[in-house]
Amino acid sequence: MNTIMKTGAPSGLYRRFRTLLIANRGEIACRIIRSARALGLRTVAVYSEADANAMHVAMADDAVLLGPARARDSYLNIDRIIAACKLTGAEAVHPGYGFLSESAEFAKRLADEGLVFVGPTAAMIEAMGSKSGSKMLMEKAGVPLVPGYHGEAQDDATLTAAAARIGFPVLVKASAGGGGRGMRIVREADQLLPSIVSAKREAKAAFGDDQILIEKFVDNPRHIEVQVIGDSHGNLLSLFERECTLQRRHQKVIEEAPSPTLDSKQRDAICAVARKAAGAVNYVGAGTIEFVSNGKDFFFIEMNTRLQVEHPVTELITGIDLVDWQLRVAFGEALPLKQADIKLNGHAVEARVYAENPAKNFMPSVGRIRTWRTPDEGHGLRIDSGYREGDVVSPYYDAMLAKVIAWAPDRASAIDRLNGGLNAMDVRGIVSNIPFLSALITHPSVRANAIDTSFIERELTALTPPQGAAGDLELAAAIAAVLVSEAEDATRTSPWQTFGWMPVGKRKRKFVLRAPDGEAHDVMLNYGRGQSGLVIGARTIAFDHSARSDNEIDVVCDGMRTSTASVIDGREIYVRTRNGRFELHWVDPFGSEDEEQTGEDRLVAPLPGTVVAVLSEQGAKVKKGDPILTLEVMKMEQVLRAPFAGIVKRLNYKVGDIVPEGAELAEIEPAA
Ligand code: ADP
Ligand code: ADP
Ligand code: MG
Repeated sequence: MNTIMKTGAPSGLYRRFRTLLIANRGEIACRIIRSARALGLRTVAVYSEADANAMHVAMADDAVLLGPARARDSYLNIDRIIAACKLTGAEAVHPGYGFLSESAEFAKRLADEGLVFVGPTAAMIEAMGSKSGSKMLMEKAGVPLVPGYHGEAQDDATLTAAAARIGFPVLVKASAGGGGRGMRIVREADQLLPSIVSAKREAKAAFGDDQILIEKFVDNPRHIEVQVIGDSHGNLLSLFERECTLQRRHQKVIEEAPSPTLDSKQRDAICAVARKAAGAVNYVGAGTIEFVSNGKDFFFIEMNTRLQVEHPVTELITGIDLVDWQLRVAFGEALPLKQADIKLNGHAVEARVYAENPAKNFMPSVGRIRTWRTPDEGHGLRIDSGYREGDVVSPYYDAMLAKVIAWAPDRASAIDRLNGGLNAMDVRGIVSNIPFLSALITHPSVRANAIDTSFIERELTALTPPQGAAGDLELAAAIAAVLVSEAEDATRTSPWQTFGWMPVGKRKRKFVLRAPDGEAHDVMLNYGRGQSGLVIGARTIAFDHSARSDNEIDVVCDGMRTSTASVIDGREIYVRTRNGRFELHWVDPFGSEDEEQTGEDRLVAPLPGTVVAVLSEQGAKVKKGDPILTLEVMKMEQVLRAPFAGIVKRLNYKVGDIVPEGAELAEIEPAA
């Protein structure tokens, strides 16, 4: 290796700076801005055309457009990031994770421009960036490795002989790999060569480098990793370990600290080995040494020379702000604590919230986030989010929206808190993995830490349960949500009249609520004078409700008050009660179901489309459900109907007009 690593970080590279550019997006960019600001730094965001309205752009002091949405034209474009530094006077760049965070070229180009890369030197990234190269280094340093082959020769004969020597099952890995890509488990000798060919193909396409290595596939594998951080004064600390065994396709889903698998002796041992590993390159900056373990022994697999997605669990058990420390190290300061001062306190668990559909093979979900409600932070809950209500999840980047992290004195309580936090979230418009995460962390095997890295794959059916049957409480909550939203609409449109539909005397109103499995529930609401009631089948329930906040409604059924939360999106009602999450479709009492596209209160285009027919006219008196116009959306005709009775004040579009999503098509003045 080269002299930089023998002598530590080059002096003069680091200096105090005042303006930090964050070369990333989403939750990590927002999280970095917070810590940088707390240090008094000015923050500069960069963004792509797809992210002009993104949260990180709004949060930063200044922002620079890099280019089109594709990462290679924006977040991965080194020239444009350097130009943005020059434009804004930024003297330092924090790369976050993903994107350019492990690019030695990026670190070198910044250094050449006299800019500070908040991270290790290019030489350190290079030494640790290749799994094969780093394993050779670790072997010399006496760090335990998974038995395997990580030599340069890549011919079939060498690799076949190596696999036979190691013994099946083996893991074929791309040396330049990351994000779980370019990996193949091989259980039989005759599968080896085909797997090598396909791993190489994937590695070449994803990383531009097809070197592979072969490792023994560790039985019942657990992933345990150690957070390290070094400064340019020769200090190197370990900040305990994280267990990240709950993975899907070799990608982490839930992470926790400390590892519930290790006792304190094993903990000391793995941390000492991690310091030895990072010490072998005189590491400067935050980094992670990853190990695979069979629960007893642990073996080095790779080092990530950057801040990791799961770093908050380490922050919560140590009380250290890792981004603050990264910035101090980049300022050239010495680490503020000594190893003996780093104390482990309690237990932390993190869940990664993705825009994806676990029931549909985790297909990513894109679109506008119509509802985004998270519980308050504090009381052991932390939420690192990169999105807000109204933001668009674009198809260009990672589908991770946020992380929910819980801390408690012990593991069981931390899991309970995390589950409470997840259950209190409402995310609508896109599909999220929140119910899946909740099912996962409350699974008895997870609670008992009886897991390995294939657990999710094996238990998938149990982790993606169909919705339970909606009971009386859920139906009552859905109806309460409709009543609250109608009352809000009524106040909005005619402030002097809170309950336009509330006449004197007893009245009845019928609701049909359909569950996703097709079961329709008929509910009769009796209201008016005196006590309201719901008739569900043969049962009559005394019913009352009161709105507590935005979406929280107290529902009283037969004298028992229960808090519920609901979101209404068009005709879909999402209800959360003590029994879980429920989705109910409110069947339109007017018009045919497949045509109706009316919103709750305004007549808006559900998607971009073309007006093909106008079915009403200015000044017309309409009943709720009367057709107003026909829109062609993605080659399908949709009749849009009056959301309530009233007078058509204005028709905003004519036949042939192209309307954007969300455009108000007609203004209807509600009937008095
Ligand atoms: P970790 O151990 O921190 O999960 P990975 O190597 O799997 O490390 O990747 C780091 C994270 O960076 C991943 O969780 C992934 O979500 C994110 N990431 C990777 N590539 C990209 C990308 N091109 N754009 C945005 N995020 C990315
Ligand atoms: P990446 O760069 O994609 O993160 P890693 O080498 O860290 O690649 O491996 C990703 C995951 O694959 C690990 O977190 C671990 O769960 C699993 N894994 C890696 N090596 C082995 C092994 N030798 N035996 C069993 N599982 C392994
Ligand atoms: Mg890894």
